[in-house]
Amino acid sequence: MPKPIQNFGRTWSFVPKKIATPATVDELAQLIIDNPKLRPMGSKHSWSQGIVTDETLVSLEKLNQLLEIDIENKKVRTRAGIILKNLLTALEQKGLAMANLGSIHAQTLAGAICTGTHGTGKNFQCLAAQVHSFEMLDGLGRNHLFEKDNPEFYALLTGMGSCGIIHTITLNVVNCFQMHAITDSAGFDEVIENIEQYISGYDHFKFWWLAPSQKLILFKNNRTDAKRNDSNFKRFVQDDLISVWMYRFLVWVGKLNRKKFIPAINRFLTKAGGKFNERICKSVVGFLTPLPPVHRETEWAFDAKDARRLLQEYKNLLQQSGGYYNFVQEVRFTKADDFWLSPAYKRDSIWLSMYNMDSKENWEQQLSHFENWAMQNGGRPHWGKDASWDKAYLEKQYEKFSDFKSLIKKYDPYQKFLNKWNAFFCE
Ligand SMILES: Cc1cc2nc3c(=O)[nH]c(=O)nc-3n(C[C@H](O)[C@H](O)[C@H](O)COP(=O)(O)OP(=O)(O)OC[C@H]3O[C@@H](n4cnc5c(N)ncnc54)[C@H](O)[C@@H]3O)c2cc1C
Repeated sequence: MPKPIQNFGRTWSFVPKKIATPATVDELAQLIIDNPKLRPMGSKHSWSQGIVTDETLVSLEKLNQLLEIDIENKKVRTRAGIILKNLLTALEQKGLAMANLGSIHAQTLAGAICTGTHGTGKNFQCLAAQVHSFEMLDGLGRNHLFEKDNPEFYALLTGMGSCGIIHTITLNVVNCFQMHAITDSAGFDEVIENIEQYISGYDHFKFWWLAPSQKLILFKNNRTDAKRNDSNFKRFVQDDLISVWMYRFLVWVGKLNRKKFIPAINRFLTKAGGKFNERICKSVVGFLTPLPPVHRETEWAFDAKDARRLLQEYKNLLQQSGGYYNFVQEVRFTKADDFWLSPAYKRDSIWLSMYNMDSKENWEQQLSHFENWAMQNGGRPHWGKDASWDKAYLEKQYEKFSDFKSLIKKYDPYQKFLNKWNAFFCE
């Protein structure tokens, strides 16, 4: 009997009947043919239950080889189960990099792309936008190559493995570059007032809020080819000592008496973390944040046109919720894209999050409070994070929802890839 599988957030675990680890595409195809129900698994970094199954769980851990790096044409072809960190290391050795990233690189490439994982930046779309082409095995074990001239490319890439298993991806990559990374702070109200200038003023702008602090920690990052000036020592102090160990210690202290400690700790962390700091570092260092302690997340994409009003309401919402948030709240921005199920589909987006480490009961209350507000404002939930997945609401948010349903019929006629979580596509 396989051991229980648990996600990074430790919010659920399950025992599949079988865990398969195919090492070749042919083995993967045979597995699909032989099994009535399967779910593909990346590195389990989602809070949503996309990989949960009591049938066959397919791990892509052995389908992780980098197949070809084409330096001249800036393309890399890789098996889809590669962990982003390993991909980035291999690219760097050839003087190449991914154009944009989220905050961590512990995910598999396929897992990150399938859920619409994103970073931040007014001119940057979700990670799927870096894909040149991909190959997927459907529910009958047939192989398909999708390129951008086929509309189904945009349908299936961010489809959470609901029509098939993606096994090979060709990415467009860029030359290695540096990040001019500035950390700063400003009052929340001032940022709301000038939000358009902040978004347009930097290549990759985002901010963190440690509620109920009236100030924010700002990340004003610009791409550059200038020489790096960050030392290993400075990086150790900032990225390990302060961001990991001091942060983890204070988060732990906060849990001892949330009401008494969290507001003071959050104000202190804002002061320490928001101190002006400037460095020119590798792009990867500028994109990533240290792997955080176990916590819960929900994150929703809204129309960036409403950013000012949304931010004001968001600030009030969390302040008045009565909850104590011992984790940063992150606000990011992305460019509209064309992926049918991307939360940023056809609209420039502001991503508003609620992150916390709290009991299940408290979290569920906070989540429902946040979600009600998000749904009143046309928010679209991140597919890899917590949400309650209201089918009627999702259908209204995604104009291609029923077209996607038709693709499930076409590529997976026996619905082998549907589990309880993504069954809403076909209910
Ligand atoms: C600490 C932390 C930080 C994060 N930071 C960010 C961030 O900055 N930005 C952001 O947008 N998100 C972020 N996320 C969310 C994360 O990027 C997504 O949840 C991502 O999907 C996780 O990738 P994974 O490899 O763990 O996939 P899993 O969680 O294992 O799987 C995710 C989904 O993809 C499907 N899938 C996996 N492999 C395949 C395949 N080969 N073919 C088809 N379907 C497949 C699975 O069935 C499942 O539905 C973060 C998560 C954590 C835990």
